[in-house]
Amino acid sequence: MAKTTKKRRGAQAAGKEPLDLPVRLGQIIEVEITGLSHEGAGVGRVEGYTLFVPKALPQEKVRARVEHVKKNFGFAELLEVVEKSPSRALPPCPIYDRCGGCSLQHLAYEEQLIHKQQIVKDNLRRIGGFKVEGEEAVIVHPTLGMSDPWRYRNKAQVPIGEQDGGLVGGFYAEKSHEIIDMNECLIQHPANDEAVNAVKEIASQLNITPYDEKNHTGLLRHVVVKVGARTGEVMVVLVTTEAFIPQRDKLVEEIRTRLSGVKSIVHNINPARTNVIFGEKTVTLWGSDVIYDYIGPIKFAISARSFYQVNPAQTEVLYNKTLEYAGATGTETVIDAYCGIGTISLFLAQKSRHVYGVEIVPEAIADANRNAKLNGIENVTFETGPAEVVIPAWKEQGIRPDVIVVDPPRKGCDEALLTTILQMKPQRVVYVSCNPSTLARDLKVLAELYEVREVQPVDMFPHTGHVECVIGMQRIDT
Ligand code: SAH
Repeated sequence: MAKTTKKRRGAQAAGKEPLDLPVRLGQIIEVEITGLSHEGAGVGRVEGYTLFVPKALPQEKVRARVEHVKKNFGFAELLEVVEKSPSRALPPCPIYDRCGGCSLQHLAYEEQLIHKQQIVKDNLRRIGGFKVEGEEAVIVHPTLGMSDPWRYRNKAQVPIGEQDGGLVGGFYAEKSHEIIDMNECLIQHPANDEAVNAVKEIASQLNITPYDEKNHTGLLRHVVVKVGARTGEVMVVLVTTEAFIPQRDKLVEEIRTRLSGVKSIVHNINPARTNVIFGEKTVTLWGSDVIYDYIGPIKFAISARSFYQVNPAQTEVLYNKTLEYAGATGTETVIDAYCGIGTISLFLAQKSRHVYGVEIVPEAIADANRNAKLNGIENVTFETGPAEVVIPAWKEQGIRPDVIVVDPPRKGCDEALLTTILQMKPQRVVYVSCNPSTLARDLKVLAELYEVREVQPVDMFPHTGHVECVIGMQRIDT
């Protein structure tokens, strides 16, 4: 028998050795789902080979088509749920299958919260080497979720394009740059949907041309809307390719008439061929340069370009936990590393002697200083620079923190910063994390001197796979 008649298995990627796998591309198989990945995909095994099936759930048997294979794992598209999980929910969003913004709407919300708690535990155990069950285990609390986990986002960024000669705005279809029109997003604040729809209609009526990404023609590229959840104030940002907007005054007037909550209409010009949303130039067309919102008692000014947490209700929950774990009573010196626009710093300043915040983006520090002034908070000092450089310098200057709070980006803390924390030896460290795997890696380093007291997952992004948590640590000899 010729060698080529050997049972055909696996993928035959161009120019590469065929992989000897129990599944092959395009094959339709039935598979039992036994787990849920960190990205929210169902995980099944075929003869020991791991297959990820997005939108499938544990305890389900599904029919799926193999779409992508690698040496150690593959992906399959869900075709049919043969046996259904009791936790399966009907996604209320009509465009759930096409959008890709949410990945967990098909899982009952209470189960999403349990899933997120489990992800934190898994990471702490596997990567951090922590005990998470039984005696003397690290306490990982149940995830704090939202009582109404919908309509929570305070910012919409909607790409505009053309379809059949008309203006559309919505989201990019999966793996493409085709814009699918959308009138409603169920995790978006209703005021944002209302504003985006109004701007789309007005722009169409005034014959404002939509941007054509392929040919780099047309005017309106993005509509960005921000709302202050507590104040109801709305900002509309029009991002265009050119400075000149035909019938600009009419456009502004129509937006004002249609949207009663609008306090600010801003124009950003982005002439570049790029998928970065904002260009360098921003002008206010009408009203204020900023809108205001509150997190807890602290007031924030939000400009078109400034960073602000997208789920303010849960941010308050997260920051209250941070404050609790910081154990500040009013006499402490606190460092807030990766402070952004100073949200955590200003929260902590209410209960501390002095707070030092450090952040790498200069504009964020300018916002932080402005926000401190806005609230009459004087016991804070902000500095621009990398935390791993600025904090060692503070150490040399003799600053002795009682508490250090870190809230790093997804890649976690710089090693030099962890070393500095171990040298500065504050009594408590509070770690706010948006990525449980880098969190676990960093906690393992800090565990040399710190006991992980409590871990509190907080659901900042219901129906998506994102997991946020806050960790309270105490120096072992205290
Ligand atoms: N604590 C803030 C922001 C956290 S997001 C809040 O709750 O809103 C993480 C921040 O770290 C971002 O603002 C990012 O610009 C900043 N950053 C990233 N790398 C940094 C570094 N090496 N040093 C200081 N800040 C950094």
